[in-house]
Amino acid sequence: MLAARLSENGTKRVLVVEAGPSGEFRNVRTPAGLPRLFKSHLDWNLYAPPQAGADGRRVYLARGKLLGGCSATNATLYHRGAPGDYAAWAVPGWGPSDVAPWFVAGEANELGDVPGVHGGSGPLSVEFPRYRNKLHDAFFAASASLGWPARADFNDWGTTQAGYGEFQVMQRKGARCDAAAAYLTPAVRARPNLTLVAGASVLGVEIEAGAARGIRYVRGDPDQAVLSASLAPGGEVLMCAGAVHTPHLLMLSGVGDGRALAAHGIGVKADLPGVGANLQDHPAALVAYTLKPSAGAISVTDQIMHADGRVRARAVLNYALRRRGPLTTTGCDHGAFVSTGARTATLGDAPDLQIRLAPALALDADGIGSYVEFARLKESGRKWPSGVTFQLLAVRPASRGAISLRSADPFDTPVLDPGFLSDAAGADAATLRAGVRIARDLAATPAFEGMVEAEVHPGPGAATDAALDAYLAATLHSGNAVVGSARMGPDPRAGAVVDADLRVHGVAGLRVVDASVFPTILGGQTGAPVLMLAERAAAGLVRGGGRVAGVAAAVRAPAPALA
Ligand SMILES: Cc1cc2nc3c(=O)[nH]c(=O)nc-3n(C[C@H](O)[C@H](O)[C@H](O)COP(=O)(O)OP(=O)(O)OC[C@H]3O[C@@H](n4cnc5c(N)ncnc54)[C@H](O)[C@@H]3O)c2cc1C
Repeated sequence: MLAARLSENGTKRVLVVEAGPSGEFRNVRTPAGLPRLFKSHLDWNLYAPPQAGADGRRVYLARGKLLGGCSATNATLYHRGAPGDYAAWAVPGWGPSDVAPWFVAGEANELGDVPGVHGGSGPLSVEFPRYRNKLHDAFFAASASLGWPARADFNDWGTTQAGYGEFQVMQRKGARCDAAAAYLTPAVRARPNLTLVAGASVLGVEIEAGAARGIRYVRGDPDQAVLSASLAPGGEVLMCAGAVHTPHLLMLSGVGDGRALAAHGIGVKADLPGVGANLQDHPAALVAYTLKPSAGAISVTDQIMHADGRVRARAVLNYALRRRGPLTTTGCDHGAFVSTGARTATLGDAPDLQIRLAPALALDADGIGSYVEFARLKESGRKWPSGVTFQLLAVRPASRGAISLRSADPFDTPVLDPGFLSDAAGADAATLRAGVRIARDLAATPAFEGMVEAEVHPGPGAATDAALDAYLAATLHSGNAVVGSARMGPDPRAGAVVDADLRVHGVAGLRVVDASVFPTILGGQTGAPVLMLAERAAAGLVRGGGRVAGVAAAVRAPAPALA
């Protein structure tokens, strides 16, 4: 995204170095291809160290490894969070009314131009899900019967976030619209001032006398020759490697906690203890039910596959000819935001729980494991039982983790500890426990009663807090939203890594423009806020004289009532 914006007017030369490939992949473009992307060659295949809050399991953390990064492997949900999330950042220039115009600037929303709320002509296509299932209708009816309000647009900050509805998706006519597809069009890639090097790993930033001079990278295998790219006068290195690899690369470059770097024999260029700290993610769990035979074969899995695991021609044709039907869904694009009461003291009435309704049975209580099973059905030739799943995410978690060095070898993965359920007060576990009970309440409403047969995960036996905690520990998985590991703020002694203009404290010519800089996680998925950040950073670099936080908004600000 940055590459497209920065190369727009021809005044800058841009080099993009991406570790993964830059090609077109069917399972990326087709939203229902998501299960085949987990643990694939387009993923970094990362695992956390044994998690105390998860029975000592090494929880899998998906991260996209291709041009477009995780935007090309995610669930396509378009959420901005809520105004209070940005107010909580408490960084001057990054409040809700400062950021809102940059969301609007980037999007081409199906709703068109809605002043202060949506843009109709940006590069990023945002639409409502094109697939609807009877189980979605049941979920909406069940939610209404619990007294929750319907939300027509979760991204309209004129209303509160709590409620149920459709989640908007980053898709163009039912096909994934990732950052590369949206911004790096063939015409953009052909610009003479833009060079794209895919399949090449950055090893670190060259820093001399307190300023970035360029980068070191290798193409292909680790044993290839190390190449370097030097900055032109006035040029900058923009780190966009995401919340895992950006802090890792900073540390490898000598930017991080001085003592930890020295312990690995890395010369210290800037002693910034905040690098790698403050890591946050959405911990997730699920509740799943089989459906009664009388409900019919209504799950999305029934509509995609035959009983022997073969994909139905009807689903393929519907997608190929009309871009409609079950192949347009990643399986979690309807749901609700709920305040469980577990975090009211800290969050007020801001929802702590997101429920994502998957109109299918989770075969595995680890939601990602379930997706992976789904992807293998064809090979195993098995029938997927009809069912429905409520995926539960603690979207404003209190727990904090960290990224740290395993060694000074750039090809050694960093230690990636999300610290799931590690908050001392047990708030995140309380949110998820409450979520399990709320899911059961939903399943017990008349809307679902005639359909659901048996609770498979966790199973009706898990009733007490202790039993639910044991279930959470055994099955908790990542909501794939890691952020915060190079956080923005004014004071490096208080853990800030970049300032409000995204410049790394103490190193000239080096900025971070990715999810690492978010001081606290957003109450919703994190991809759209990254694109907002990048839109703003690009404008700051091109026409703001490098001042990102202060760059004038390209579009009208939202109603002041939100600030
Ligand atoms: C499975 C999954 C589902 C998700 N679902 C949603 C969703 O539905 N909606 C949503 O908004 N968000 C979702 N997210 C999160 C969202 O996609 C991310 O928050 C967002 O894309 C992060 O952007 P980023 O630029 O910070 O990092 P990334 O997208 O991770 O991009 C970093 C890039 O840097 C590259 N890189 C890393 N190290 C190096 C190196 N040494 N050399 C060269 N290149 C390197 C990576 O390969 C990658 O392309 C999901 C994420 C995942 C993994």
